[in-house]
Amino acid sequence: MKIVAENYQLKLEYPFGIASYTRTTHDVVLIKITYQGLTGYGEASMAKYLGETPQSVHSFLKKIDKDYIHPEKYTIPEIYHYLNGIETGNTAAKAAVDIAVHDLYGKIHQQSCYKIYQVNPENMPVTSLTVGIDKPEIIREKVRKSLQFKSVKVKLGSGYDKAIVEAVKQETDVPLYIDANQGWTDKHEALDMICWLQEKGAVFVEQPMDKNDDDANGWITEHSPLPIIADEAMQRLADVDRLKSYYSGINIKLMKCAGMYEASEIIKKAQQTGLKIMIGCMTETSCAIMAAAALAPLCDWADLDGPWLITNNPYATPALADGKIILSEKPGLGLYSV
Ligand code: MG
Repeated sequence: MKIVAENYQLKLEYPFGIASYTRTTHDVVLIKITYQGLTGYGEASMAKYLGETPQSVHSFLKKIDKDYIHPEKYTIPEIYHYLNGIETGNTAAKAAVDIAVHDLYGKIHQQSCYKIYQVNPENMPVTSLTVGIDKPEIIREKVRKSLQFKSVKVKLGSGYDKAIVEAVKQETDVPLYIDANQGWTDKHEALDMICWLQEKGAVFVEQPMDKNDDDANGWITEHSPLPIIADEAMQRLADVDRLKSYYSGINIKLMKCAGMYEASEIIKKAQQTGLKIMIGCMTETSCAIMAAAALAPLCDWADLDGPWLITNNPYATPALADGKIILSEKPGLGLYSV
């Protein structure tokens, strides 16, 4: 059992803007766990607001006792509990190992990762294409180039939100997923905007206000005609109980919750509490995306567009049919290099 990790800088096709910043590249750490001629692939994509860096990922990986991440000696939940107990935080680093362990487990047992969780691929939701904050003419160009997607996720919180939505609507009539990324500051104005967005074909709104302002987000949820989804406010399994009082649903990302196993537990808990479930991503290669896609049929909505937003994905881009990611029947994640 050996872990090899390398830094990799993803290049974005367009500068990616959300309410708080714009960027053109994104650093990830790609890992490989090798065992008896088989390789499990994993990926850590660090979100700025969670405080991880390539250096912190490497230093976490050095703390792992390789004997304990052995998918023939230990079960996936046992490996998860071992990794989680090494240190708090480091969720993207833990996710990288968890994903690679799932890929390797699948290869050892000749099983696709989605089958580990008894997922029915027929329930795969469409994946949205995310359009970052940009000039209306660039937004129109992005939407025009991506008409294979059957929903568009629109980033708002810009100061010219209606112009952005109108630009998208000029190019497509598909349902809109809205993400304010905490960018709205007045709950009454946010509610007015949500009512307008509903008329424009919006399906739900993610993180309208500051993640720490449960009362304002809760007030919006209570009055909103559309479901309100916690993203920045939602990190881990332990958050689900609290958030059910303030939101209609949660956005799960493997990088926030330490990987596939905890994500599967969050999905079970959210289903029990009646929360809507969205599965999303950071800027990621096909590796972390295929791991999330394996669980996506258990969710209401998916936003797994990472590979389509970058120009140097080291793995083949997943295949889409009717805007839905096709899960591979190959053992593990079904990844292959380009
Ligand atoms: Mg979001």
